[in-house]
Amino acid sequence: MLKLELPAKYEALRQRVRAFVDELLIPIENASTAGTDLKPEIRARLEDEAKKRDLWMLHVPPEFGGQAGDMFSKIVIWQELGRSIAIPPRRWAVFGPDPGPILYQLAEHQREKYLWPVLRGEKKVAFAQTEPGAGADPAGMSTTAVRDGDHYVINGRKRFIGFGDEADFIQVVALTDPAKRARGGISSFLVDTDTPGFRVVRQLETMMIDRPVELEFVNVRVPAENLIGREGDGFRLAQSWITEGRLARHGARGAGVIERCLELGVAYANERTTFGSKLADRQSIQFMLVDMYQHLYQLRLMLYDTARRFDAGEDIRTESYLCKYFGDESAFHAADRCMQIHGAIGLTTDYPIETFWKQARSFVITEGPTEVMKMVVARKVFEDFTKTA
Ligand SMILES: Cc1cc2nc3c(=O)[nH]c(=O)nc-3n(C[C@H](O)[C@H](O)[C@H](O)COP(=O)(O)OP(=O)(O)OC[C@H]3O[C@@H](n4cnc5c(N)ncnc54)[C@H](O)[C@@H]3O)c2cc1C
Repeated sequence: MLKLELPAKYEALRQRVRAFVDELLIPIENASTAGTDLKPEIRARLEDEAKKRDLWMLHVPPEFGGQAGDMFSKIVIWQELGRSIAIPPRRWAVFGPDPGPILYQLAEHQREKYLWPVLRGEKKVAFAQTEPGAGADPAGMSTTAVRDGDHYVINGRKRFIGFGDEADFIQVVALTDPAKRARGGISSFLVDTDTPGFRVVRQLETMMIDRPVELEFVNVRVPAENLIGREGDGFRLAQSWITEGRLARHGARGAGVIERCLELGVAYANERTTFGSKLADRQSIQFMLVDMYQHLYQLRLMLYDTARRFDAGEDIRTESYLCKYFGDESAFHAADRCMQIHGAIGLTTDYPIETFWKQARSFVITEGPTEVMKMVVARKVFEDFTKTA
């Protein structure tokens, strides 16, 4: 196996999560979910096992009662979880609730009502940025929040909001200064979903297990104390959520998908014979697997380096974009090639491949499509390589 040595504590963490995946998740694939979630009895059993194995609150910073909130740990956890389809990838939190990075930044007076109940599993939260008219370009949003005395009044529509129909409150990103937009004109608010004027309009059916929703805000009055950070901080806060996502939910999860596709692809190539030879002996099949192997190696190097530098406080925005699109594209490529190696059986639910394929395809679009990632990286390429006189 590709020898990329991890520091001892991360290797120990990796092995613990890997054992959880191998012993508990892979055996229940295809029987683990009902609707959009894990079956309740399966969730209860997995959470129980996570507690017994001391994996509970693994991803939560120690100051909030968890074990480790650093990015390197998240990368290690997500790579292992990414190897299985048993847990819906956008609802992964079997090691305890995941409030996401924004809620940890709440002011003291907001934590009691919003952060702690999420960590205790008493409240659910969603994140609403995307709109019918603004997805890949969130700064083009039209939802507004206008100050009115000691309240803000929110009007607009949000679309593709994961779990927006289950949430007790939503982190809503809205325009507070349309002239400034991403440069200080966008703010984030904590909006209770029982506030008058808030409505779930519809659920969107996707080719994956996910059923995100469309939300409507009509004169929704939110106390000014529910502003997160300062007015104009919203775009920066949303980016912190998305940066973590680019590395963990996309890059590292993608590495897990590639690794599992290698496991499956090699096993099938070794066992299947066509025209008198094993698939494993065909160079065209070997080359597919070699590409996957190379991508996995590249992706891990990128992720470990980027996570280490993130944890050291460095600005890793460009690297996070590279990890996001390379992780997503190579995971989709791996699922697609693995499907090809398996032939028709790869299209069936006998194997996890078709689920990986559908999920991986969706991740190339969500939280920033590849073209937008490359657009931002291109600015850095020109900045770095344009010769100044
Ligand atoms: C299952 C699921 C869950 C989601 N959960 C959430 C959530 O919880 N909260 C939330 O806020 N959002 C969520 N989203 C929204 C998601 O992040 C957006 O769909 C995504 O950012 C892309 O936006 P869009 O679909 O509007 O694409 P558009 O902005 O319409 O872009 C369409 C396509 O145009 C191309 N494109 C766009 N810009 C450029 C460019 N500059 N150059 C070249 N090509 C370009 C890309 O190929 C892109 O795929 C979710 C989506 C899904 C499917």
